[in-house]
Amino acid sequence: MRAAAETTLSFEGRFARDLEELAVPWQAEEAPDPQLLVLNEPLAAELGLDPAELRTPEGTRLLIGNLVPDGATPVAQAYAGHQFGGYSPILGDGRALLLGEITDARGRLRDVHLKGSGRTPFARAGDGLAVVGPMLREYLVSESMHAMGIPTTRSLAVVGTGRAVQRETMLPGAVLTRVAGSHLRVGSFQFARVNGDTELLRRLADHAIGRHYPAAAKAAHPYVAFFDAVIAAQASLVAHWMLVGFVHGVMNTDNMAISGETIDYGPCAFMDAFNPAAVYSSIDQGGRYAYANQPLIAEWNLTRLAEALLPLLHEDQEQAVAMAVESLGAFRGEYSAAWLAGMKAKLGLEAAAQDDVVAPLANELLAMLAEGEVDYTSFFRSLSSAAGGTTEAVSDLFVDPAAFEAWAERWQALAPDAEPMNRANPVYIPRNHLVEEALAAATAGDLGPFNRLVNVLADPYTERPGLERYAGPAPEDFGSYRTFCGT
Ligand code: AMP
Ligand code: MG
Repeated sequence: MRAAAETTLSFEGRFARDLEELAVPWQAEEAPDPQLLVLNEPLAAELGLDPAELRTPEGTRLLIGNLVPDGATPVAQAYAGHQFGGYSPILGDGRALLLGEITDARGRLRDVHLKGSGRTPFARAGDGLAVVGPMLREYLVSESMHAMGIPTTRSLAVVGTGRAVQRETMLPGAVLTRVAGSHLRVGSFQFARVNGDTELLRRLADHAIGRHYPAAAKAAHPYVAFFDAVIAAQASLVAHWMLVGFVHGVMNTDNMAISGETIDYGPCAFMDAFNPAAVYSSIDQGGRYAYANQPLIAEWNLTRLAEALLPLLHEDQEQAVAMAVESLGAFRGEYSAAWLAGMKAKLGLEAAAQDDVVAPLANELLAMLAEGEVDYTSFFRSLSSAAGGTTEAVSDLFVDPAAFEAWAERWQALAPDAEPMNRANPVYIPRNHLVEEALAAATAGDLGPFNRLVNVLADPYTERPGLERYAGPAPEDFGSYRTFCGT
């Protein structure tokens, strides 16, 4: 299985070296018949990899860890986590491996990571595997998020393994090759706090600072500055999600990245009709991770991070808690500011527009969208046509057009500019019915619809003729949408 690769691909083992207590050296399971299903050529180029090499049989085996370059040490990462509020002291990569890090063309260190690469010591009852549909789904949604300018892990490739995997039915197996600033999670800190001494926690924090928040190293109190930076990154990230109608679906602390990237596309989905209570995950029965709860959950998760970091904040626990509380106090203001700035852009208003005028205006609009079950993405995209004064095309979307027109008059009085609105309001998002259509075809062996959808989503803000079917809500008979975790 281990063989020197005749390619230029080489990995640094920075995480494995710096944090060996959190890294279990492990190897990917051999795939019987690896077939490259999709390769992200622009991302490969960003990483300094040659797409033609990755398309060869050896390149494909490299992409799934079946060929390990000399000197590389794939590892399963240990982490803990709160899942739906309940603490699990050991989660870890049950079906994933970190191959190592690559310095990309811009000099940034990026993780190359596998999902679906076989059982590891953290697999518990799981089979360690993944199937084609959900891995292509992560590819599609993460690349769409990236195209919309939202921080996210990226998808380099999906490789079919040639192995049938038992789910409700037998399904074709696959491995996703994922790229991220890092895979450090809130749960990584929770694990280090419980399973090591302060020295390990400090080493983990220093590693995270070095990779993501180097300015914190120069601050008067580096670990407070680090925590503040993570808070700010998460406030901004969740604001982005809210502004595009994204429901992550499984915001457990092990699925919150320290880098501020969206991570772990399991049961996520985009809303069609605006609905603050939107939940898609079949296991989220209490609606803990509903759309409107996401900012509160992010704050809750950051509080768990604070608990893990306490020994680094101050040696006196009471003082450490006071410092953590002070830092956490910034989250709500930062979130609201990021959200309002994004909402101003969506409404075509200048950044300088008065907050206390725009915030109530936006909230009244959202209440109308919710009441009328108006398609969130189409509404904002079409709103630019009303900036100049004619509202008919938009008011038709509402059950109470008069109420919308009254709202629109107040909005128009703020002199919205239609032109920049089309750079803030996507036309094309991964709509659930399109995603399902593409994945069903791909699972049956036809990648055509998937590839077309990937291409549409790569340029979300430019409306193109002939792509009308990608821009509208699901047909009535699509029904309500359910998603599944860990598949
Ligand atoms: P997730 O909900 O995908 O973030 O996964 C939560 C935990 O379950 C992580 O520790 C995963 O590695 C693990 N896990 C999920 N699916 C599997 C599987 N099929 N086999 C082994 N571990 C899994
Ligand atoms: Mg996870």
